[in-house]
Amino acid sequence: MERIQRPRGTYDVTPEEAPRWQALEARIRHVAARFGFGELRTPVIEARELFQRTVGETTDIVQKEMYVLTPPGSDRQLVLRPEGTAAAVRAYLENGLHNGPQPVKLFYIQPMFRHERPQAGRYRQHVQFGAEIFGAGEATADAEIIALAMTLFAELGLEGLEVHLNSIGCPACRPRYRQALLEYYRPRAAELCADCRARLETNPLRLLDCKVPADQPHKAGAPRTVDYLCQDCRAHFDELQSALDALGIAYRLDPGLVRGLDYYTRTVFEIKYGGLGAQDTVCGGGRYDGLIELLGGPPTPGVGFGMGLERLLLTLEAAGRPPGARRPLDAYVAVAGQVPRTRVLALVQALRHQGLAVDMDHVGRSLKAQLRAAGRLPVRYAVILGDDEWARGEAAVRELASGQQRRVPLGELAAVLRPAGADAAAETRGSAEVDRA
Ligand code: ATP
Ligand code: MG
Repeated sequence: MERIQRPRGTYDVTPEEAPRWQALEARIRHVAARFGFGELRTPVIEARELFQRTVGETTDIVQKEMYVLTPPGSDRQLVLRPEGTAAAVRAYLENGLHNGPQPVKLFYIQPMFRHERPQAGRYRQHVQFGAEIFGAGEATADAEIIALAMTLFAELGLEGLEVHLNSIGCPACRPRYRQALLEYYRPRAAELCADCRARLETNPLRLLDCKVPADQPHKAGAPRTVDYLCQDCRAHFDELQSALDALGIAYRLDPGLVRGLDYYTRTVFEIKYGGLGAQDTVCGGGRYDGLIELLGGPPTPGVGFGMGLERLLLTLEAAGRPPGARRPLDAYVAVAGQVPRTRVLALVQALRHQGLAVDMDHVGRSLKAQLRAAGRLPVRYAVILGDDEWARGEAAVRELASGQQRRVPLGELAAVLRPAGADAAAETRGSAEVDRA
């Protein structure tokens, strides 16, 4: 029979790779909690209009990358969530979080779906760690959002990340900038790529986002958003820089940075890692002061980021700092003779209750085959239960690395098998893994 394969641009996480994700997610939850962010989980499917209205009709996400679903018998189209911020705002309003104490600080770790050309660090389903602060317009909130990302990187042992920072102004100052941009680009229209010629009419700010090599010289001479900021936007941008200075976070002012989504106001930023090639942006975000109103809420400022976790894992790999390895078993229980398997299972279960990682044979293999299977696992001890041992209430405990074997009364098994330095209570505490990492 022909095998069915996973869709292009997607991947499986095998048990070998899962611990990296688990350790990364645990670290994220740990840092986010210390910054006062609560976790939000939203559906994978959302109304199509949610992103059309917010991300913008003329953006790549909405024009080319959304997976659109037409459920049977329905004329209301759904999409697979392409980005997290609009969904977070929808949930904030729909659950009445805007009526409670403000600001509201939310984070999520969720898959996003974009139909783009798959390549290293670019998938059709990818996971983002996103963080949003709703209801704080002050520049210290922008600084805190950037600090959250940078703290996570530091705790993962990552260095060499660069914060690129810009301000793109607000509805008060952007029209003047847009005008200047049009005056600069119109005479050059014939030399621009087809996409940029279209952008000239639909979304001139995105001219600065063009990646086509032939268009780069034009970009270099284009007017800069920072030269057109109104007084309030200028003050906000200056204050953000002071706050980052106070936090000791280095940044590079990048006047050409505009970012792909329509809803950004004032602050935009990206955090890049040099070693990743073309897909070097690990985190992108900014301020979106009009977005909540645009989705029918009260005027509420907001700021946030999205961080691609596949790219972050690639970065950690490249930096030689992979997070978390699979927990090895403490013991593999091998059974021989007439020892009742149900009693052995109960023994294994009792050891697990005491915080140990234990497995056993279920398929009736010979003792030799069981020990061979144990030898292939990452496991410290084989616990051998034959008729003789069982009759005496004992087990033979073999340390696989050294081959040393001794008899241990069943009542003392847990103490003997427990890895040095671990106590039973710590194994069941949620943060134990994180604190030791
Ligand atoms: P890019 O310019 O690389 O396409 P973007 O501007 O589309 O990124 P955002 O929408 O800001 O990206 O998403 C936030 C982060 O999510 C990115 O910085 C990146 O780390 C990650 N990301 C975005 N698209 C993908 C993808 N297709 N595969 C993997 N990670 C992605
Ligand atoms: Mg993109």
